[in-house]
Amino acid sequence: MPSAEFFAALRSIIGPERCITDPGLLLAYECDGITHLRTTPSAAVLPESREEVQALVRLCATHGVPITGRGAGTCLSGGATASAGGILVVFTRMKRILKVDAANRLVVVEPGVVNARLSETLRPLGLAYMPDPSSQTACTLGGNVGENSGGPHCIKHGATSASVLALEVVLPDGSVVNCGHARGRTAAPDLRGLIVGSEGTLGLVTAITLHLERIPRHELTLLASYRDMRSACEGVSAVIAAGILPSALEALDDRTIAALEASGKPSGYPRDAAAVLLLEFDGEASAVRAEAEAASALLRNAGAITLEEATDSEQRKRLWKGRKGAFGAMGRLAPDLYVMDTVVPRSKLAEVLPQIGRICDQLGLRLANVFHAGEGNLHPNISYDGRNPDEVKRVIEAGHQIVELCLAAGGVLSGEHGIGTEKRDYMPLMFGADSLSAMRDLREVFDPQTLFNPDKLLPTPRICAESGFPGKPRTRP
Ligand SMILES: Cc1cc2nc3c(=O)[nH]c(=O)nc-3n(C[C@H](O)[C@H](O)[C@H](O)COP(=O)(O)OP(=O)(O)OC[C@H]3O[C@@H](n4cnc5c(N)ncnc54)[C@H](O)[C@@H]3O)c2cc1C
Repeated sequence: MPSAEFFAALRSIIGPERCITDPGLLLAYECDGITHLRTTPSAAVLPESREEVQALVRLCATHGVPITGRGAGTCLSGGATASAGGILVVFTRMKRILKVDAANRLVVVEPGVVNARLSETLRPLGLAYMPDPSSQTACTLGGNVGENSGGPHCIKHGATSASVLALEVVLPDGSVVNCGHARGRTAAPDLRGLIVGSEGTLGLVTAITLHLERIPRHELTLLASYRDMRSACEGVSAVIAAGILPSALEALDDRTIAALEASGKPSGYPRDAAAVLLLEFDGEASAVRAEAEAASALLRNAGAITLEEATDSEQRKRLWKGRKGAFGAMGRLAPDLYVMDTVVPRSKLAEVLPQIGRICDQLGLRLANVFHAGEGNLHPNISYDGRNPDEVKRVIEAGHQIVELCLAAGGVLSGEHGIGTEKRDYMPLMFGADSLSAMRDLREVFDPQTLFNPDKLLPTPRICAESGFPGKPRTRP
């Protein structure tokens, strides 16, 4: 626990009303979207300017106190929780859109701006910020940068990294660096690329310059339903193999459709379907029409039992309703929801999904799958009751087995939710000792005291040895 002197200095920087230390109020900051990974911060502080962030960072460096950046706390890998004895720097009050430059199609924002609020602001100008995490009505752009977040439309337009032009970053010694440039590529080493996805371990982002697109002129949505998941996955592979690039290619299984029905907000998807695919196309009308027709033929050929098409915005919304409502519906099945994130090669989807089902069935857990099929990015969702320790144990065991299954199928640890503490101890399954050591060296260059989100992302030999994940391999086979 930091000293009384530290807390006094903290309050003098930030003011007592923006420095939360009351244990009751700190409950709200104990976890992020992964509710079984909890730590209580020593304090949660809410800065309103870069200068305040710098002062906080310098104070923590002097007192050796760990510091974790936090946006909306929707992170699904335990990355937005405090480290032992550490504080949370919560960016939700730094929420100004600093500049909209329509001529150069860019925007400069503070990190606490909510993703969907940016889109709403840009819409009247005919501009769009493309990365659209399903949490976009809550998550912040700072958090999106921290995780290099994706979303349904990232298959065509790229994840957050593809839209970040420049960043203003407070380093662990309190200095400020500007990475990247509003004009795009620079000759210098790509510090911007290093910071994006570094989960707050290298610096705290205080301003973000983002590239914008024009809102697409035409959009067309397809909904295909299947009697079995294997045929749906074959449809996905056929579309991608034909060189067609939809702007979204999402999948839901029968368990998700059932959850939607049970939620009282039915999706309208065929109830007897074992899987549905949602595809979207954007661009010029003739190209959109040609791609949709080619994709429809391939989807039918793979065994689609129904195929619906929508071009006007109300009809398209109707087709998206189930996908948009999926997490909410699953959230109603039980008090807690473990949203996992792994990736397998697209060609392995049909093989891996039934095995994930079997893992959860054998452990007596309730599973539903909704995922970014076009990218092979799976989200096995397990509904459970966190008050039941035995069930929590089984959920964690299922997580282990699913991660190992996906890696064995040639996949990667995370598609978009990051590593955090959830997957930290699996890093040696993906990276050799030399690669991990190079990552640690790099981190030390930025943060010699290892105070920025210290227990996240990279395993340390000590942490591995003390890990709560007994009996699991921790080195690459
Ligand atoms: C229902 C649901 C659906 C989701 N869907 C998606 C999805 O489709 N795609 C996807 O990618 N994710 C998704 N997520 C996960 C999550 O919303 C994203 O990771 C999001 O980017 C987190 O934003 P946040 O503001 O909540 O950040 P937080 O959770 O607060 O923080 C995330 C990480 O960023 C770091 N961080 C935060 N602010 C800063 C900063 N200013 N400087 C440096 N580091 C910082 C934190 O330390 C942490 O490591 C979903 C989550 C939920 C609950």
